Amino acid sequence: QTIGDFFDAMVSRFPDNEALVSCHQQLRYRYHELQREANRLASALLGLGLVPGDRVGIWSHNNAQWLLTQIATAKVGMVLVNINPAYRIAELEYALNKVGCKALITMTAFKTSDYLDMIRAIAPEIAQSKPGELQAARVPALKTVIQLGDDNVPGMLRFADLMATGSADDARIAQIGATLKNTDPINIQFTSGTTGFPKGATLTHRNVLNNGFFIGEAMKLTPADRLCIPVPLYHCFGMVLGNLACLTHGATIVYPNDAFDPLTVLQAVQDERCTGLHGVPTMFIAELDHPRFKDFDLSTLRTGIMAGSPCPIEVMKRVVADMHMSEVTIAYGMTETSPVSCQSTTDTPLEKRVSTVGKTQPHLEVKIVDPDTGKTVPVGASGELCTRGYSVMHGYWDDPQKTAEAIDTEGWMHTGDLAVMDEEGYVNISGRIKDMVIRGGENIYPREIEEFLYRHPAIQDVQVVGVPDKKYGEELCAWIILRPGAKLDADALRDYCKGQIAHYKVPRYIRFVDAFPMTITGKVQKFRIRDVMKQELQ
Ligand code: ATP
Ligand code: MG
Repeated sequence: QTIGDFFDAMVSRFPDNEALVSCHQQLRYRYHELQREANRLASALLGLGLVPGDRVGIWSHNNAQWLLTQIATAKVGMVLVNINPAYRIAELEYALNKVGCKALITMTAFKTSDYLDMIRAIAPEIAQSKPGELQAARVPALKTVIQLGDDNVPGMLRFADLMATGSADDARIAQIGATLKNTDPINIQFTSGTTGFPKGATLTHRNVLNNGFFIGEAMKLTPADRLCIPVPLYHCFGMVLGNLACLTHGATIVYPNDAFDPLTVLQAVQDERCTGLHGVPTMFIAELDHPRFKDFDLSTLRTGIMAGSPCPIEVMKRVVADMHMSEVTIAYGMTETSPVSCQSTTDTPLEKRVSTVGKTQPHLEVKIVDPDTGKTVPVGASGELCTRGYSVMHGYWDDPQKTAEAIDTEGWMHTGDLAVMDEEGYVNISGRIKDMVIRGGENIYPREIEEFLYRHPAIQDVQVVGVPDKKYGEELCAWIILRPGAKLDADALRDYCKGQIAHYKVPRYIRFVDAFPMTITGKVQKFRIRDVMKQELQ
């Protein structure tokens, strides 16, 4: 099925169930109301002259309009392009041109921002043009800019005014819907940019709809569930693991805020009686360590997903014990695979849930291969994780060469992640191939050392990377964030390691820092840590 068909079927089954609560906007939609508004938007987008296959960019923090746009574009076969809200002029221009966006929807309403200025910098012609008729030298494909603010901005269309031009009963929506195939592209998502420049993955209805459905199944979502989504919608974590997992199960989506803030998450979970909560590990850490954590009643929580980067066992344990999320699951995946390949389910024994990323999702294949020979390695041995099945992206947008490097001729996506599979099929991710450290011929997985250091009571968060070394090829370096008020120095930490881990795994360089370089998805950019250290050690 297509996203539109599936969504309409859910609306028929649960018309009065709450579909969305956007806390920061004080907006609530039941399923039938969300359908009506999404249809109105789809009709209005058609009214702008946009047709199936046209790219519609969204450059925005989380809000109700984001979800409406996701459903509306899918219903009439337009390709939604998720643009990172952290992008600035050069990156925005690159993304718009890379995929040829005809329309751009942007946020301005909820933060005083320089977004409009950045658009004017790229397309100064906008002030003199009518919406739909923009001709800008630097972004030639862009015809219309829609903004969410209340102000009238010359040349730009207000979202509310656009909505007023649409009709929820527009017959064209069903007509176009009937012509769509589930293998049509509906979404271009840029990867997080953890290892370098983000890549645009082209995804189809079949890719993301199936993935969202099976993610919700693993969490045993029902129409009674209310899932708090503080992760960005521009990323597949919010849009698939959040929005689509809920919409395919008649559950309620709760946005606590437009961007991540631990306090509003705790507040939303309490006030909206959420049963689920998503996050990357750094978000859960920020919530658990918030000084007001104990003031909130989180007892309604049952499940949720921790994913996106290695999930420290200690954090998982605290999420289960202190946040009542006894059915929390871990997911592993990447934007290019819609995204989830492996996930634990609520039935997975807790010990396996905290120590692995679960098993291969239904209807997908996973194999672990020797990155040099391409041969499948024995059970228990480390290698590159490859995956095949409905979830593998259509390709990188307009980049057949990169696509061919990532997806082999048999359809296997090569993830660049190192993993081990045990005899029961549970998968453990040991890190990225690029991050593995080879010191004097020994393979060292930073993850293992991070897990060990993380158990030190003074340490709040830790990242381990390899830095070049004349003698050993590479040496280990640990960047450490201490808990508030805690004291620790490098020598004391080295003493602590002695006798606990092999001498070659004790970090040679130890730095205490206030923060790590991060992507907006909350992932630590190790390549930036390596760059800083390289400079320092030169
Ligand atoms: P880029 O490809 O632009 O460098 P990225 O790989 O971080 O960025 P995403 O597609 O958002 O972009 O993230 C996918 C990656 O995140 C995976 O390849 C893997 O390295 C990591 N990852 C995801 N889930 C987990 C998990 N549960 N445990 C460990 N690592 C994970
Ligand atoms: Mg990647």
